[in-house]
Amino acid sequence: MKEINVLAISELNVSYFQQLQHVFTVHDRIHLRDPQAWLETAKTIRGIAMRGDAKLDAELVEQLPQLEFISVFGVGYDGVDLPMVLNKNIQVAHTPNVLTDDVADLAMGLLIAMARKIPQSHQYVVQGLWDKLGAYPLATKVANRKMGIVGMGRIGQAIARRALGFDMSIFYTSRQTKPNLPYQFIANIIDLAREVDFLVVATPGGKETTGLINAEVLQALGAKSGLINIARGSVVDQPALIKALQTGVIASAALDVYSDEPFVPPALRDLPQVVLTPHIGSATAQTRQAMADLAYQNMYAYFAKLPVPALVPECQ
Ligand code: NAP
Repeated sequence: MKEINVLAISELNVSYFQQLQHVFTVHDRIHLRDPQAWLETAKTIRGIAMRGDAKLDAELVEQLPQLEFISVFGVGYDGVDLPMVLNKNIQVAHTPNVLTDDVADLAMGLLIAMARKIPQSHQYVVQGLWDKLGAYPLATKVANRKMGIVGMGRIGQAIARRALGFDMSIFYTSRQTKPNLPYQFIANIIDLAREVDFLVVATPGGKETTGLINAEVLQALGAKSGLINIARGSVVDQPALIKALQTGVIASAALDVYSDEPFVPPALRDLPQVVLTPHIGSATAQTRQAMADLAYQNMYAYFAKLPVPALVPECQ
């Protein structure tokens, strides 16, 4: 299939890149690196490979008259202008399921780290404050508390299963209720926030969820509670979150994702009651390999005219 030209629009996982290179002719960010060569190459591109956090805008797609297929390395495909590519009959695939456990593990890790102040108390020991100042201040209990999950999909359900192991009660909202799940559905997100001790965000990004967690939701969550976001930075109104933390409207936050990655504003970094990770939800060696394999298989299957393992729901 070397006659098929694929454009990598963002830096790719090494295994994903090498597997593609073995079979296709891959142009690594040539549109950014070599604008002169790009003019000719653009006409030949039939596939795009990209990370889930990359942006594929209309301007680039318009330059690719032969584009047929996009293989996203990640489950979230909010970086693709979906209505625009569907309109052009371009198919999109992603990597669901293989990363679910890792992201759910991180969500629980963040929740516990935030509530029990693990990073802060680690610093307390490392900085030699324990023997000077005595016992560390009390933290917040996790077991038997109420967890609210915004987005009860694959990852939301995996988080709920883990939380049951901590004897937590689970409440959730999503677009539709899930009658087969033993958790309480609360349609209105403000009511959900008011009910729970910890609110975990696990929806997709994109227009539909932008700013879903706004000042009103944070107010309803209240000073007893903490917010955990492993979804997308766009789902939380970040300035409203910073204000809510600065003024004690909510107690704490644990975040893996931000509105303008990799930039995290000093106002957020400076807060003592936050736990911040650099978008590492799926970042284990094992899971990244599984994502690479699936992202490659999606691309291969499409061009080999085989069933594509993981088309996004809108393309099925
Ligand atoms: P999924 O199975 O499609 O689940 C998404 C859930 O969000 C569904 O339950 C859906 O509701 C719900 N939802 C969608 N729009 C909503 C809205 N406006 N209000 C409330 N709920 C809404 O996807 P997944 O595999 O669990 O992945 C979820 C997201 O996690 C991804 O899209 C990605 O953004 C993020 N993620 C982050 C990382 C990381 O590194 N931090 C890694 C992987 C994924 P219905 O079921 O009713 O349709």
